[in-house]
Amino acid sequence: MDLMESRDIAGDATPAQLRNYIVTHIDDAIDGGWIRPYYQPVVRTLTGKLCGVEALARWDDPTYGMLFPDTFIPALEDSRLIHLLDSSIVRQVCKQYRECVARGEATVPISFNLSRLDFDLCDIFSVVEKAAHDYGVPRHLLNIEITESVLGQDTALMISHMGKFHDAGYQVWMDDFGSGYSSLNILKYFDFDELKIDMEFLNRFGEKSKTILASVVDMAKKLEIQTLAEGVETDEHRTFLRRIGCEKMQGYLFGKPMPYDCDEFVELRDRIGIESTPERLYVSEIGAMNMLTLSERDLTAGNSTKDYVTSMSIATVEFSDGRFKVLDSNRVFREGLANVGITSVEEAERRINDQHRPVARNARELVNRIEETKFARLDYVIGDYACVMRARHITSRGGKIALLVSIDDTIKLGERRRHDSMFDMLSVMYDMYDHVDIIHLDEGYIEPVYGNIGLTKQFEVTEFDRVTELFAETEVYARDRERYMQFMDHDTMIERIDAGGENYITEFFRLRQSGGDYAWKMYILIRIPESPDAPDELDSLASFKLPKPPDRSGNQVMLCIRGVLNTHEVVLRARYDESFSEAAVGLIDDTPIMTDGGKWRALMRDNDINVFWKDRERRFVGANNSFLKYYGFTSVDQIIGKTDEDMGWHIDPAPYQKDEFRVLEEGEHIENAAGKCIVRGEVRDIIASKHPVYRGGRIVGLVGYFIDVEDKLGESGMLEELPVRDPITGVLNYTGLESATWRYVDMYQRHRVDFAMVSINIESFQAINKGFGPEFGEKVLRRIGDELSDIAGNQRVVGHVYADRFVILSQGESDEELKELCNEIEQRLIAIPQVDGMSCTIYALAGFSRFSELGDIEEMKRRNRDQRLERRKQWPGATDDGDVITSSLL
Ligand code: C2E
Ligand code: CA
Ligand code: CA
Repeated sequence: MDLMESRDIAGDATPAQLRNYIVTHIDDAIDGGWIRPYYQPVVRTLTGKLCGVEALARWDDPTYGMLFPDTFIPALEDSRLIHLLDSSIVRQVCKQYRECVARGEATVPISFNLSRLDFDLCDIFSVVEKAAHDYGVPRHLLNIEITESVLGQDTALMISHMGKFHDAGYQVWMDDFGSGYSSLNILKYFDFDELKIDMEFLNRFGEKSKTILASVVDMAKKLEIQTLAEGVETDEHRTFLRRIGCEKMQGYLFGKPMPYDCDEFVELRDRIGIESTPERLYVSEIGAMNMLTLSERDLTAGNSTKDYVTSMSIATVEFSDGRFKVLDSNRVFREGLANVGITSVEEAERRINDQHRPVARNARELVNRIEETKFARLDYVIGDYACVMRARHITSRGGKIALLVSIDDTIKLGERRRHDSMFDMLSVMYDMYDHVDIIHLDEGYIEPVYGNIGLTKQFEVTEFDRVTELFAETEVYARDRERYMQFMDHDTMIERIDAGGENYITEFFRLRQSGGDYAWKMYILIRIPESPDAPDELDSLASFKLPKPPDRSGNQVMLCIRGVLNTHEVVLRARYDESFSEAAVGLIDDTPIMTDGGKWRALMRDNDINVFWKDRERRFVGANNSFLKYYGFTSVDQIIGKTDEDMGWHIDPAPYQKDEFRVLEEGEHIENAAGKCIVRGEVRDIIASKHPVYRGGRIVGLVGYFIDVEDKLGESGMLEELPVRDPITGVLNYTGLESATWRYVDMYQRHRVDFAMVSINIESFQAINKGFGPEFGEKVLRRIGDELSDIAGNQRVVGHVYADRFVILSQGESDEELKELCNEIEQRLIAIPQVDGMSCTIYALAGFSRFSELGDIEEMKRRNRDQRLERRKQWPGATDDGDVITSSLL
C-alpha cells in the first residue's frame, strides 16, 4: 500500500502560469466542486483508535490534475482570496459531517486550518458559526488549527479572534508548534486546547529532538494542553511518543489525507475502531496525567536515564467489571515489581485480581472510596518488603475508573524515613482542601500557600480586606455575600475563633464554579498557635509543616476551603439558616418596627427574608435587597408605585388582594400564610406575613415579609421530595406544569385572561446524552432550566415535560411578543458555549399557541408540534425523520 501521496508538479505549467491559473479559477474551482477536503486520520496513542481527522484541502483540477496546498495556498494568500477556499472547506466539512450522521455512521472531531488572512478578509467566525448551525454540527466537534508562524504578528488581535472561537465552545489548536521562533511566547498569551507538535522533530529523530519532544509534552501537560505529534511515520516514533505520554498521533504510519468515504478510509476505520465521545472524555483525562513530572528526572545528555521516564514508579490502571488492568507503566514500575519477585505486569494483574489475596481485597476497598477521596494509600507486605501503594483518582466513566498508581516497594522494613510521613501528611492536606491561605491579621495581608481558587492570583493584590471584597463581589453567590463578609471580617476574626471554644470556626458559602454554576464550599478558619517554640505542640505538628514555614509573629489564621462532600453538611447549613431567619422573624414581631432603627436595619440586611412595604393603595414603596435579588431586580425603582397586578407575579391575584385589604382596612395581622408566586419562571411556595403600619393612629400602609419555603427545603436536601418540581432541572415537572396549566385555564374561563403555551424541543439533547453520558445530560438539562427560568422572568411559568421537551406558559402577551420569545429562547440556548466546563451545543426549536384561539390544551400541543416540524424543514441541520430526529444528531 502506497501511503505517500504522489505529488508531481502539475503537467508542464510553469509555477507562474499555475499561480495565475489558480487565482483566476478559484470561483470555478469552488463552484465546480474541484476543491474538496481530504481527511487525515488522528489516532489516540493510548488506545490506537481513530480519535479525530484533519481536513486538508485538495484541488482536483480538470486541466492540471491534483493540486496540493503548497501550490495553491500561497497563491491564494498573496492574492487575498484564501478566505474563499477556507469558507468552502468549512462548509463542506460540516455538510459531510451531516451526511455521515444521516447514514448512521459514527463521527469523530474534525479539525480544519484557518489562514491568518481569513480574519482580515471576512468574518470567519460567522462563516464557521453559520456552517455549524446550518448542518447541526456541535461546536465541540470542530477544532480550529492556526499555525504558529502567523501568531507572532498582531498577537493581541489574533488572541481576541481566537478567544471568540474558544469562548463559543470550539477548540483552538496551535499548529506546527516549534516551527517558529515565538512558540513559547504565544503560549503565554493564549489558552490553546491542543499543541500540534511540528513534524520536523520526528523528521530529525535524534537525541536532541527526543529531549525537546519530551519537554514539550511535559510542559503542555502542566499547562493542561493536549498534545498531538505530526508526521508519525515509523513504529519507533510511535513507541517513543507512547512512552513520553503524547496523547495523539498523526502521520503516514496511520494514513495519508484521503476522501472520507474512500475504501481505504472505511477499511482503516473498521480495522482500528472509532473512539466514541464517552471514550474520548475518559481517555483524555488519563492522557492529561503527566508520567514525567511526577518526580525529578534528568534529561541532560549522557545521563543513564536515557529513556525519558521518571525515577518514580508509575502506572495508569483501570478498574472495570471488578478487575484491574494496567494500561500503561514505566520502567521503574516494572523494575520495582521485579525487585519483589513479580516478573511481569501480567503477573501483577493476576495477583491483584486474585480475590484470595488480602491485597486484592484491600485494593478493591481502595477503589470504592477513591472517587470521593481522590487520593488513597495502601500498605502491605511482600516478603520482607513493606510496600506502599499510592493511588490517585484520574477519572471515572461508564463504570470504569482510571487510577494513577505508584508502588514504593523498595523500602525494607524498618528503613522508613520520617520524611515519608511528612510527605503523606502534606498530600492528604492538599487532597482535602481546594485551597489554603494564611491570613496575617496584624499586617493585613493574605499569603497564598496552595490552591486553585485563586484568591490572590486572580486579583493580583494581597491586601486582605481588598481581596475579601473583590472575591465576595465576583465569586460568592449573591445571597451568601453578606454572611461571607461577616465571616471574613478582619477585626473580629480572632475574637470569633476564640469564642467558639475550638481552635477553628467553619461556615458554608456558595462559590462560583468554572462553568458558571455555584457550589457549596466549606470555609475553615484555623488559628495558628502564636508561640513558635512551645515544644509539645510543635512536636505533634512536626509532620504538618507547610512548604514555606509561616512566620509566627502576630495573629495568623489559616484559611482552608474545601468542597462539601457530605450531605450532612448541607443539612447543617440549612438548620443554621432556619434559626437565623426565625430570630429575625422574632425581631419584626417586636411591633415598633419602623421606629427601632437597629433591628430594622438588621432585618433589612437579612439574607433569607424578603421584606417589602406598600402604601394604602397597595403600591410598593420599598423593599430590602434580599427581596430585589429574589425577583432579580436591579433597583427598587423597578417596583415603586406598582401593585402586584402590575407586576403580574401571581397567576390569580385575588387571594392576595383580599389579604392586603384585610390588613389595610381592618388592621389585621396576617401571619405565616402559605401562598404561591411566580419567580423567574417558577411557581414558588412562599410563607408570607403582613402587618399594618400606623402613623398618627391611622393605617398608612403595610409591611410584609416572606420566605421561600422551597429554598429552605432545597438547602436541606428535601427538594427531591416535592412532587411538583423536577429534580433534574429545578423547574416544574409534568405534574406541576399540569396543575399550573389548569390554573391558567381557570383564569381564562372566569376572567377571560388569555394565555399561551410555548413548547421548546431540545433538538441536540439525545445526541448530547448519548455522547457525554446521562450524568452530563442532566447537567445540560439543569442549565437549560436555568436559562429558560431566566428568560421567563417573573411573569411566566417554566416546566420540564420529559427528556428533551420544555414548556413555558405565559399570560397576556401578543403574537409578536411570543414570536420574539421563541426566537430569544432558540438564540439564548444555542449561544451557551459550554456546560460544566465542557463544550456542547444546544440546538432548540420553539413554537407557541394561545388558548383563546384553540380552546383546548391538546390542540395547543399539536399546533406547537406542527410549528416545530415546519421549522425543521427550513433547517438543513435537522433531518426529516419526525420526532426521533434528535437521536441522529450525532
Ligand atoms: P499542516 O496543517 O501542517 O498539514 C499537515 C501536512 O503534512 C499535510 O500536507 C499532510 O499531507 C502532511 N503530512 C501528514 N502526515 C505526514 C507524514 O507522516 N509525513 C510527512 N512528511 N508529511 C505528512 P498538505 O495537505 O500538503 O498541507 C500543507 C499545509 O497546507 C498544511 O500544513 C496547512 O498549513 C495548509 N493547508 C492545508 N489545507 C488547508 C486549508 O484548507 N486551509 C488553509 N488555510 N491551509 C491549509
Ligand atoms: Ca494543520
Ligand atoms: Ca502542522
